[in-house]
Amino acid sequence: MIRLRGVAKRYGAAVALHPTDLDVARGETVALLGTSGGGKSTLVRSVLRLIVPDAGTVTVDGTEVTAATVGAVRRRAGYVIQGGGLFPHLTGRENAALVPRHLGWDAARLGGRLEELAELVRLDRALLDRFPAELSGGQRQRVALLRALVLGPDLLLLDEPLGALDPVTREALQSDLRRLITDLGATVLLVTHDLREAAVLADRVGVMDGGRIVQRGTLSEIADAPATPFVEAFVEAQRYALP
Ligand code: ADP
Ligand code: MG
Repeated sequence: MIRLRGVAKRYGAAVALHPTDLDVARGETVALLGTSGGGKSTLVRSVLRLIVPDAGTVTVDGTEVTAATVGAVRRRAGYVIQGGGLFPHLTGRENAALVPRHLGWDAARLGGRLEELAELVRLDRALLDRFPAELSGGQRQRVALLRALVLGPDLLLLDEPLGALDPVTREALQSDLRRLITDLGATVLLVTHDLREAAVLADRVGVMDGGRIVQRGTLSEIADAPATPFVEAFVEAQRYALP
């Protein structure tokens, strides 16, 4: 469903992403792992042209994502950009309501959906009436996730969606998110540093280093036979988190 072919991005002389191929099948969750600066966000953002790649093609359900088609792809996808990306001058509720209102949802439908999702992301509903600056990092992330899920999308792009959460809330949300992804039958491209999160959520993983996916496979394949010293160090640092 998501297909990248030769997607590349550089900033001046610095290569953020070498030409990269990636397929995420319908209903599959792929997690991109690695340390900071590896190119994970660049890759994910390329899918929705939040970054315009220098080369290569991105296809979603057979349609090439171009300047002309990206609007439709963004409207059907749920996405959380790294750091949340909430509009600071809108409350959480208003942030989440933007697209549904545009699509003509009435207040009752919207209210019901927001209640349901607040429970799902384990957020006190009263916090939805605060502005992003009035929330903790973890609360902001849950509002961003809620906003991404509001339309019940079957395509999700999640860049460290749970990164700012405390370990207890994070673990609970990982399981909730797994259930939700299964219920939606969603196709998911996820970025995480957290091997446990990848273990709970991802069918396959790709480890990124220096703007390349240096190893792909299931998490256990990668943990059992790291392909590079980088992958080995990355796995060893979190081996305690593996199932
Ligand atoms: P990750 O998400 O894995 O931490 P990124 O995709 O954000 O990595 O970044 C990959 C590389 O590209 C990094 O070296 C980063 O500094 C560089 N980079 C990202 N965005 C920009 C930008 N707007 N200008 C210059 N360099 C950038
Ligand atoms: Mg990133």
